[in-house]
Amino acid sequence: MMNILETWNKRPLIISGPCSAETEAQVLETADRLKATGKVDMLRAGIWKPRTRPGSFEGIGTKGLPWLQQAKRNTGLPITVEVATGKQVEDALHFDVDVLWIGARTTVNPFSVQEVADALRGVNVPVLIKNPINPDLELWTGAVERVAKAGVNNIGLIHRGFSSYGNTEYRNAPMWHMVIEMKRRNPDMILINDPSHICGRRDILADVAQKAIDLDFDGLMIESHIDPDNAWSDAKQQITPERLSEMLSNIIWRKEDVSSENFHVALDKLREQINQLDDELMLLLGQRMKVADQIGKYKKDNNVTILQTNRWNQILERAYGKSDKLGLSREFITKYLDAVHMESINRQNQIMNA
Ligand code: PEP
Ligand code: MN
Repeated sequence: MMNILETWNKRPLIISGPCSAETEAQVLETADRLKATGKVDMLRAGIWKPRTRPGSFEGIGTKGLPWLQQAKRNTGLPITVEVATGKQVEDALHFDVDVLWIGARTTVNPFSVQEVADALRGVNVPVLIKNPINPDLELWTGAVERVAKAGVNNIGLIHRGFSSYGNTEYRNAPMWHMVIEMKRRNPDMILINDPSHICGRRDILADVAQKAIDLDFDGLMIESHIDPDNAWSDAKQQITPERLSEMLSNIIWRKEDVSSENFHVALDKLREQINQLDDELMLLLGQRMKVADQIGKYKKDNNVTILQTNRWNQILERAYGKSDKLGLSREFITKYLDAVHMESINRQNQIMNA
């Protein structure tokens, strides 16, 4: 019998399987074909599907759990399902589910998360917690805390992107900076990327998966189906087990670190340069703020408004003229100048009202 923590600690950890368990034959064939790739560590399937709107397939329910149990017997792959209620936790554990995951629509709701956490008390099964659908790290952290307080020792995070109004390239915007901050706060927790729900389509899955690996994620959860176009849920984003295998072969797996002496010497030198440059930038920013303070005093003495739109436009135009030549993106320069400008305004505000 496999030890689930061995799988849990494997890197990269690859989890795959259909969005939803649909029929026994579909679950068993998917599991066999995933196993045959030799690249998949855990089988996933949705049994209860929290759908945004009623009328779409809401999951096969408890009757699908024996199918997964059979797939596990046939392939030796551990299994994971999404749980959203205490009853679902009980049912899943009754059918030997190895790892549970909390879905994005559940993470947003502290009542539901607490109910799941209460059902987990004394069980200590590994739990993966997806990010909430809205970009709120406190909500995600709260869910982690509730599950940890129930005594669960193995908690992992799944990044599945954040929903927003209006169609973008992604179904759910990745907002990588959010997940980088979450990883900084929870350095010992495994972090899995779910490109399927970020992309919502097949053609950009590989790019998102590669980006996650470049950012030192611990693994991937990717939806797969024996007949993706006819899947009962999330048809547009699922891929066949064989396509998954091909995609995983094309990913460049990066190491977080290497032991080579030369690499470290070179890296240390470059990092020293970065430190020097950061120090200089800080010094210059301090000087810039002092000049802004002087302007603030001058504006106060002459009773002039702090914000002068023309001047702000002029600053941006000047910067864009230079940034293009320096290879700095306008997006970055706008964010940077916005932050600097806001700080100047705040300081001038204090001076005016001192
Ligand atoms: C799923 O994994 O099929 C799912 C419903 O995901 P999410 O909770 O990320 O929407
Ligand atoms: Mn899905």
